[in-house]
Amino acid sequence: MGKASTVAEPSLLARLGSVMRLGYSKTSTVLMLVGICWSTYVVVTSPPPWAQALFLFVLCVVLTDLISGVLHVILDNPRSLDVGFLRGLAEGFQRHHKNPAKIYEMPLYEHLYVMHLPLMIVFILVAFFADARMHVVALSMVFALHLMQMAHLWAHVPPEKVPAPVRLLQRGRLLLSKAQHDVHHTPPYDRDFCIMTGMCNRPLNAVVRVVGGTTHWWNAAFLAVAASPLAVAFWLAYLR
Ligand SMILES: [Zn+2]
Ligand SMILES: [Zn+2]
Repeated sequence: MGKASTVAEPSLLARLGSVMRLGYSKTSTVLMLVGICWSTYVVVTSPPPWAQALFLFVLCVVLTDLISGVLHVILDNPRSLDVGFLRGLAEGFQRHHKNPAKIYEMPLYEHLYVMHLPLMIVFILVAFFADARMHVVALSMVFALHLMQMAHLWAHVPPEKVPAPVRLLQRGRLLLSKAQHDVHHTPPYDRDFCIMTGMCNRPLNAVVRVVGGTTHWWNAAFLAVAASPLAVAFWLAYLR
């Protein structure tokens, strides 16, 4: 008798989970690039007020530090290892405590491309909107999420290998320094979760001290914080 011809299709959530475990999908990189082109076209052809565009850009950069911190709380949580679609990322973050050097030993592209799936989702969301302010947020998030990944990497590479302009930004506390990030890399890894500028570490540490780092409510907090730049742009564009 031949093989059964009907194989159950994996659910969308299971597929998303396997993509997140692999951490890579060429489709997300390609769709992110298409999104960059489309959003740039929208911003160039119907430019938003420049002051609002600048405000949204700065907001995205500042909030990305907080987004990185809240996501890091979730992925350092041992309970996240039991949540199917988080397991792969949580294993990666928790392995990073044991082997921090891997972050700069792996190919740079591998370190950056994990951001392309969330960015693809942002571009799909803003494609439904004609107002350029929504697209300014999407483009700003491309910059901010890649800078966040680079800032974390630069906080780990041996100091002599950090580019001079980056060292200046680290000294000026505009990017996370090795000394700041080393505080997180000290057991029990329960503070200083933000990995971009580090400017949101103080308020986040205060909340983690009160509610702890192991509640699944952090997932709801992440969705709220991650959606907030688009929510602000939506308010500016359609509700004000
Ligand atoms: Zn950590
Ligand atoms: Zn680290």
